[in-house]
Amino acid sequence: MDADRARLYPFVSKGEPPLVQISRTEGCYLYTADGRAILDAAGGAIVCNIGHGRREIAEIAARALAEVDYVVPPFATPSRVDLVARLRERWLPNELTRVFFTNGGSDAVDAAIRIARQHHVCAGRSGRWKVIGRELSYHGTTLATLAVGGHEKRRRGLEPLLAPHPKLPACYPLRCAECRGACSLHCADTLEGVIAREGADTIAAVIAEPIGGSTAGALVPPDGYWPRLAEICRRHGILLIADEVMTGFGRTGRRFAIEHFGVVPDLLIGGKGLAGGYAPIGAVFAREAVVAPIADAHEEVMFYTTSAHPAACAVADTVLDVMEREGLVERAAKMGELLAAKLARLRAHPNVGDVRGRGLLQAVELVRDKASLEPFPAEKKIVGRVIVAGLVRHDVFFYPGGGGPAPDVICLGPPFTVREDELDRMVDALEASIAEAAR
Ligand code: PLP
Repeated sequence: MDADRARLYPFVSKGEPPLVQISRTEGCYLYTADGRAILDAAGGAIVCNIGHGRREIAEIAARALAEVDYVVPPFATPSRVDLVARLRERWLPNELTRVFFTNGGSDAVDAAIRIARQHHVCAGRSGRWKVIGRELSYHGTTLATLAVGGHEKRRRGLEPLLAPHPKLPACYPLRCAECRGACSLHCADTLEGVIAREGADTIAAVIAEPIGGSTAGALVPPDGYWPRLAEICRRHGILLIADEVMTGFGRTGRRFAIEHFGVVPDLLIGGKGLAGGYAPIGAVFAREAVVAPIADAHEEVMFYTTSAHPAACAVADTVLDVMEREGLVERAAKMGELLAAKLARLRAHPNVGDVRGRGLLQAVELVRDKASLEPFPAEKKIVGRVIVAGLVRHDVFFYPGGGGPAPDVICLGPPFTVREDELDRMVDALEASIAEAAR
């Protein structure tokens, strides 16, 4: 079994769970070869927005491949034309007219960084190269995306390879020394100080997740945060990039999480939910003005070989069609409110420091001591224990998270098709798993 584990690298690597092999997926369930049905409270890696096992999507992929298997990305294909039309007509803010497809989230963020840099170089501002990120953030596993990200654990040991981009503090009211609970937007205002220190003419862009992912667990900024960031960026000629790889395509109850805050970024990045796990695809969406200097200079943004793959485009187009037909963005909002209401009772648990999130992206932060918010000692591996307890004893899969001052976070991100009784089962299983792990 150990050899199998080493070869296969099971997703849940903490806490030494037994190797679980999934032989079938359907709805909100993962079925093991020996017949167990595991409730997927994580939607995979918070990906499977429309639920598992939809035959219609498999058939569309087969048909798309039979028609056009592959062409180099500068060619158009029917599935790509349809997907771009759908995105522009029904999903994207009107201002975001340009679409660049990738293979997933990390390489989409990487491409957005390239586009931001190329934008400035082509406009004659070649001094602008820094991309300001934030602490407690995650933007992917390539070296450029780790460099702009603030996920300590995933950066560890790689630092010499990571460009020294400046960082802003996370917007994390629970532990914020500046505002303790009622955010004063000090964290957004620190951007002014960073710009003054670094020099605006060295900064290409600011990148952030509109609502945090799993790093510190579904951190939701107050309403004024994003407008403040946007205003400061605009004043200094800095591009604003919203990384919606996890939050995009309905996860937080709006098409994109940035819509909660009334801001349209210069670049917006999508991944996971775009094809709901049925195909590897990500995308960068940009304003015309971002691309104009690159086009005017007759420069190109280099594609990835399998960018805009015909099968991936056909799958994404159908996944979005399913979301529209079944009203799944609205359903994510409704079921998200229900999930948040049900999770609220966990706040009373002595080892729960916070419960937070928006829509069907919710997180529970675990602490050793509720009053001081002191985390568990690292050796306790509390998150791994909770995940294993959920998986092994309760047949429910939760998503592990945590980083920096919030090292122990459990995330929930179920499919939008989830039923209320399944939400109840998730919350019951989580409550029991936390109690068992903390014992
Ligand atoms: N950006 C964000 C906000 C993410 O949550 C993730 C993955 O979790 C990524 C980027 C990287 O995406 P991928 O794992 O598809 O490369």
